[in-house]
Amino acid sequence: MIAELKMDQAMSEQQNDFGDGNVGLHYEESLLWEKEAGDHPGVDLPTPKGLKSRTGVAARGEIGLPQVSEPTVVRHFVRLSTWNYSIDSGFFPLGSCTMKHNPRLNEKVARFAGFGNIHPMQPESTIQGALRVMHELQGILGELTGLPGVCLSPAAGAHGELAGLMTIRRAHELKGNAHKTVILTPDSSHGTNPATAAMCGYTLRVIPTKETGRMTVEAFKEALGDGHDVAGMMVTNPNTCGLFESEILPIVDLLHKAGGYFYCDGANFNALVGTIRPADFGVDVMHINLHKTFSTPHGGGGPGSGPICVTEELAPYMPVPTVVKTKDGFHLETEDDRPTTLGRLKGFNGQFGMHVRALTYIMSHGADGLKQVSEDAVLNANYILSQLKGDYSVPFEGPCMHECLLTEKSLKENGVTTLDVAKTLVENGIHPMTVYFPLVVQGAMLIEPTETESKETLDRFIKVMKWIAAEAKAGRGSVLHENPKSTPRRRLDEVKAAREPKLRWKKSN
Ligand SMILES: *Cc1c(COP(=O)(O)O)cnc(C)c1O
Repeated sequence: MIAELKMDQAMSEQQNDFGDGNVGLHYEESLLWEKEAGDHPGVDLPTPKGLKSRTGVAARGEIGLPQVSEPTVVRHFVRLSTWNYSIDSGFFPLGSCTMKHNPRLNEKVARFAGFGNIHPMQPESTIQGALRVMHELQGILGELTGLPGVCLSPAAGAHGELAGLMTIRRAHELKGNAHKTVILTPDSSHGTNPATAAMCGYTLRVIPTKETGRMTVEAFKEALGDGHDVAGMMVTNPNTCGLFESEILPIVDLLHKAGGYFYCDGANFNALVGTIRPADFGVDVMHINLHKTFSTPHGGGGPGSGPICVTEELAPYMPVPTVVKTKDGFHLETEDDRPTTLGRLKGFNGQFGMHVRALTYIMSHGADGLKQVSEDAVLNANYILSQLKGDYSVPFEGPCMHECLLTEKSLKENGVTTLDVAKTLVENGIHPMTVYFPLVVQGAMLIEPTETESKETLDRFIKVMKWIAAEAKAGRGSVLHENPKSTPRRRLDEVKAAREPKLRWKKSN
């Protein structure tokens, strides 16, 4: 395999002789404005004579669209579209993202005319079937989490966090808890957690986890203080190091005694679904990424969907609408039906097409199938961990949940970094894992294979990873710094791109 790959590399270094960068049916794609000089517009009408402008001052001047023909435009965008990498192209082991296969059955059902052709402004009496789908999904998510209040409307995980934290804020508001202004979160938390807390006007207090990878009761107690100002805690479980928070029960007990609520970031639910209900470890509010755990497409394949599930106590405060069953059929609740609600956070009712896909996925798996999903996800991650722990540094001992965390520590002495590993994976036809996250370990490599990959795929990944570590240890790191070699672009100056973005193209005269 590796000999073959080397040959590919050598071939890719060949350049064509025509100076346009097109190699192997891969085009060097210029901007449409840059193409205009060599192309001819498809439509070229003469300016009509003697026709007065009917729009007066609103008459449009030159807007500077590139003058190119239709085939040029079509080819430009089709070629760009082939530059996307997706779960349908290959293995995509991004930690924390749950890039699993999206069964085509979901797509088929979402396209049924009765689901695909309805409009959210139709009278409720004409969309009873769709409302029933939402009602059933609410019921199942409530059962899987043990949290019976379910609102499907948030449009993604981060939006679910906002909805969930606003639910907590609303509850405190109506209870007269104006003094509760602090949200606790571990230092390993996903960036959206502190961002959400800040957006809701809360002050953050961080729980350190650096030494252990997990929260400890002691560290939590210190962050809690006497707890009078603590509104709640935002924690991902299993956490972003891929570890189950083993001291969660006594921690949540202390939090609840202080009058705080436990917001669980449910992005990692793929490790638990069907095996444990988050309510049983004290969760009060949680969002679910349908586009992670329940196989609705993401990463450019579809809109996200981040329903929230809350305890019975908090259900009156969550956003509207939710679907309720009345004697006259299914009904979308409004502010009038539930005046304690924090209000509406999304136009219409959420990403209905994703609700259909998630329900299809859940029903086609059944209870036993969902349990197997999480067990296989955990098994696959542990298989990778067990195979690679001799080759890479493992920051925290013991088995992992649905993703495993490695670091660059043992490669560093040979001058090889996590970035070199990622770029060498690209060179060898594998999309990298999540790199440099979580921030609590240096040079993190967070690998989430998911349950839908075959052992052959995992074995190829392991083989390439072992080879990279061996090259580093053999002192051939300088070769790894050169990767990727076969891609249209090599290593980009990502810092410069972020600091000095060029957002407008200017004609050079
Ligand atoms: C993916 C993820 C989120 C955010 O979800 P989006 O749907 O991308 O907004 C939040 N927290 C964690 C831990 C995640 O992995």
